Amino acid sequence: MVTSVSILGATGSIGTSTLALVREGGFRVVALTANSDAKKLAALAKEFDAEIAAVSDEGAYAELKSLLSGTRTKAAGGASGTIEAASARSDILLSAIVGAAGLAPTVAGFAPGRKIALANKECLLTAGSLFMREAQKAGATVLPVDSEHNAVFQALACGKRDAVKRVTLTASGGPFRTLSRERLALVTPEEAVRHPNWSMGAKISIDSATLMNKGLELIEAHYLFDLSSDQLETLVHPQSVVHALVEFHDGSVVAQMAHPDMRIPIGFCLAWPERLEWQAPRLDLAKVGSLHFEAPDHERFPALFLARAALDAGGSAPNVLNAANEVAIDAFRARRLSFPGIPALTGAVLEKAEKEGLYREVSTVNDALGVDHVARSLAATLLPQFAAKAS
Ligand code: NAD
Ligand code: MG
Repeated sequence: MVTSVSILGATGSIGTSTLALVREGGFRVVALTANSDAKKLAALAKEFDAEIAAVSDEGAYAELKSLLSGTRTKAAGGASGTIEAASARSDILLSAIVGAAGLAPTVAGFAPGRKIALANKECLLTAGSLFMREAQKAGATVLPVDSEHNAVFQALACGKRDAVKRVTLTASGGPFRTLSRERLALVTPEEAVRHPNWSMGAKISIDSATLMNKGLELIEAHYLFDLSSDQLETLVHPQSVVHALVEFHDGSVVAQMAHPDMRIPIGFCLAWPERLEWQAPRLDLAKVGSLHFEAPDHERFPALFLARAALDAGGSAPNVLNAANEVAIDAFRARRLSFPGIPALTGAVLEKAEKEGLYREVSTVNDALGVDHVARSLAATLLPQFAAKAS
């Protein structure tokens, strides 16, 4: 039987890796979305004979519609078009929009028996409890695409849930792992997007450089696997071969390893509960030679602290953290904020949000997006205090 797949964020790094696996055969594409690149999206929709293609940016809709005229693909546009694409019936919804913008379409895609292959970690940052609860209510199964969480998902299968002592997520340490504080103050956006092991979109690459990505992933793991903060740890591992470790009460530690290539966790989600047969890059440990591990340095990478504090504060603190971080990254990319300014601004927004009583439980997606909106305004207001010319 052919499995049908829809991809939110089809033109991005995860979307491209997913479509590379789809080309290997065994899948049919139902829906594809992008933000504004109508040309690339139309070309993909034609290649995969998609039923519907949507651009979130209203301004790109006319171009998409004209490029798809005469094909069987329906063109859609704006937030409602993206939601229509997410809701179109298919076996798997691959959620790979970047940022909080992925939340509403992903939730709209929940349906009985549907697999939600979740790459967009910001869904869990913005509305973690609500997201998991709604998925369960709808009868959808959330499968983690993020490599560390995919590793945890696989390792957890080796024991009972109440036998889990702790879970460790590994971090490559990013491109600046060995830089001094003084040098960190001078890094440019171009240097920050160059990840040593993974090829990824710009936002997550910068998150990997600040280590905020690992902080976001602690929170992601908390919601995905219902683990408490003290059961979750991080470990720097520059080779990115061991993706996560699950320690059980009997002292056994189960780790998942793979060559660092996102097609491996994506393929796992596409085939689950089976295993995909494809020409996967093989892990050659003799070639890797040695594996190195070290504790993360919180002094040079304070983003990890902030994320831990947001996890412990609970409520909408992770939402505020995520929103402030997105604003800070945009400012860094626009050279309005230095690299250390990213955690500095994010920390200031968290402090202010807590004082203003913004840390509360949310009960709807709109509620969560409301908090996201307020946190972004706070970040924009505080930004000038942190603004500095990055070199
Ligand atoms: P990317 O920037 O390469 O692609 C993002 C995709 O989302 C594109 O298709 C873009 O058109 C679309 N998009 C961007 N803004 C949008 C908006 N406002 N509305 C609708 N669509 C929008 O990003 P990526 O690296 O593929 O990452 C996607 C998600 O997966 C992120 O949440 C990231 O944290 C997560 N993730 C990525 C990787 C990786 O290796 N790239 C690994 C783990 C998790
Ligand atoms: Mg990851």
